[in-house]
Amino acid sequence: MSLADFAADIATGAVRVVDLTHTLDPDFPVIVLPPEFGQCARFRMEEISAYDHRGPAWKWHNITMSEHTGTHFDAPSHWVSGRDVPNGAVDEIPAQALIGPVCVIDCSAGAAADDDFELTPQIIAEWEAAHGPIPAGAWVLMRTDWSKRTGAEYLNMREDGPHSPGPTPAAVRALLARDIRGFGTECVGTDAGQGAHYTPPYPAHDLLHGAGKYGLQCLANLDQLPATGAVLITPPLKIRNGTGSPLRVLALVQT
Ligand code: MN
Repeated sequence: MSLADFAADIATGAVRVVDLTHTLDPDFPVIVLPPEFGQCARFRMEEISAYDHRGPAWKWHNITMSEHTGTHFDAPSHWVSGRDVPNGAVDEIPAQALIGPVCVIDCSAGAAADDDFELTPQIIAEWEAAHGPIPAGAWVLMRTDWSKRTGAEYLNMREDGPHSPGPTPAAVRALLARDIRGFGTECVGTDAGQGAHYTPPYPAHDLLHGAGKYGLQCLANLDQLPATGAVLITPPLKIRNGTGSPLRVLALVQT
């Protein structure tokens, strides 16, 4: 397919563009760490002017947030295991790496029944039996429909911390064996809410970033994607030495 054909298919809707991004909003939850650690800032927006005495013909805002606020990209340098990965910061990642195929593993039924639902190697094997092997360089997204939760239900904090689905260490190793590009979820992190209790703790962060792979979190609309065949566009902001960035995640889907 030529790029001219591709542009025409976008224009006609033969290729559909699905927005996998939550709106940046002060009310959107951010990850909460135990109180002894530094905390991630929510999105904030301050008006500079709004067609008024501060600027009669224009409106604009100053915004502040963490690198890891809202729908966002995790670079390898986010985790200590990835601190020495070449090109491990968002400004160093080659542009060519920011567009790639995506496999979607539907865990929504399991996550509806169990807040701590685990993606396991068996689920990955069953997915491949149905859809074919996960190709090298693919994004793998864990669909849970968690993005449909709002308010306190999203972080799902209990006395012992957050409860949300994620991959087991063996599942992460299985994805690494397939040389994936990265792993994404609808939850606030790529790891399960109780991911601190695995060995290693937070296996998605530890193992994926240590291997130079990327993460995507707080994704939405995964229920609009096919299991295979879509393409993700995932350019983070070009922050010098940035460990991650809010971004607009777009999926191209052939109709
Ligand atoms: Mn993050």
